[in-house]
Amino acid sequence: MATKTVYYIEGDGVGPEVWKAGRPVLNAAIEKAYGDTNKLDWQELLAGEKGYAETGEHLPKATMDALSKADLAMKGPLNTPVGEGFRSLNVTLRQVFDLYACIRPIKYFKGIESPVKRPELVDMTVFRENTEDVYAGIEYQSGSPEAKKLIEFLVDELGANVDSTAGVGIKPITPAGSKRLVKKALDFAIAENKPSVTLVHKGNIMKTTEGGFRKWGYELADQEYAGKVVREGADGDGVIIKDRIADAMFQNVLMYPEQYSVIATTNLNGDYISDALAAQVGGLGLAPGVNMGDTLAFFEPTHGTAPTIAGKDMANPGSLILSGAMMLEHLGWHEAAALIHASVEKALSDKKVTVDLAAQIKGSTEVGCQEFGEILLANL
Ligand code: NAD
Repeated sequence: MATKTVYYIEGDGVGPEVWKAGRPVLNAAIEKAYGDTNKLDWQELLAGEKGYAETGEHLPKATMDALSKADLAMKGPLNTPVGEGFRSLNVTLRQVFDLYACIRPIKYFKGIESPVKRPELVDMTVFRENTEDVYAGIEYQSGSPEAKKLIEFLVDELGANVDSTAGVGIKPITPAGSKRLVKKALDFAIAENKPSVTLVHKGNIMKTTEGGFRKWGYELADQEYAGKVVREGADGDGVIIKDRIADAMFQNVLMYPEQYSVIATTNLNGDYISDALAAQVGGLGLAPGVNMGDTLAFFEPTHGTAPTIAGKDMANPGSLILSGAMMLEHLGWHEAAALIHASVEKALSDKKVTVDLAAQIKGSTEVGCQEFGEILLANL
């Protein structure tokens, strides 16, 4: 019998209600697929407003200690508290646990209105680097002493041509950071029998950073994946590794989505392309995700706390449930994940959905968060 411990954070806003509707669906899918052979042992960790109410801290020490030893966790959305010493709890969790890969599968669910003609051809998984690039936070305001000092150095010492009034930001991209992200994408593509991994970059312009990402990605593939991964156009079997310049890639995923499967990319490109692809299949309403490091995989719905609908039984628990299905796939519990996907597909074709999806499915009937969970449960 496999019992797997999952630490979970309920989250703020709609968090408690999407968990209440969603967790029974995850447990029931596992039971249906494996009887009592496989089980999840859910262990709650306090964080966010609930953490603050009970311990006086938004990220209590006990939560951080448990996560530092954990390999599997799942969270609801967390509000960014005002007046704390950090930007957001989510960013803190990513930084502290070095969750360097943000992974988002993007797949079309039949019945949802999409702005493109053949959304069913979209079946991609984006691996976005989560710690480097312009998100490193090294930025100086126009006219600040720091900007002036940096510009003086650039002009005087390096001969660069930078206007003294510029705001400046630094874009660090390292060989190690690029390689560990590309490694995650290649390992996933091999394990899941995906046809290709595409390195997306803007290396024609930003040669040392985005171009570096491309170069180090190929280097890793050549050095560590011989016989398993083959460059586009070369002889041999295995997962094809190719690269595309980011602007061309945005055209390609619209025009030839069937040619792309796993995407590995830098932080900013990944931010843009995950949302653009999500729009191609009908929006963020059902989008799951995970932030992953070498030891911890932290699954979460991609939406926020939705304060305007919180507590009104209007939230869609689908993103949380599909994040749970992604976690089951990560555990190799593919049968249970497949039951969940089939259940969501049936609910959409039966056209009984939460208000956000009702707006995207013609002739549908609106149901509340809890009822939608019950429908998914009954569909398993
Ligand atoms: P949001 O995702 O909470 O809301 C955007 C829109 O989507 C709103 O119209 C909302 O009603 C709707 N929406 C979101 N989730 C929904 C659901 N499950 N069902 C139906 N409709 C849903 O984004 P926001 O308003 O920018 O952020 C609100 C708060 O959430 C902020 O404090 C932000 O920091 C936080 N946030 C947290 C995370 C996270 O924990 N990963 C992610 C994004 C935002």
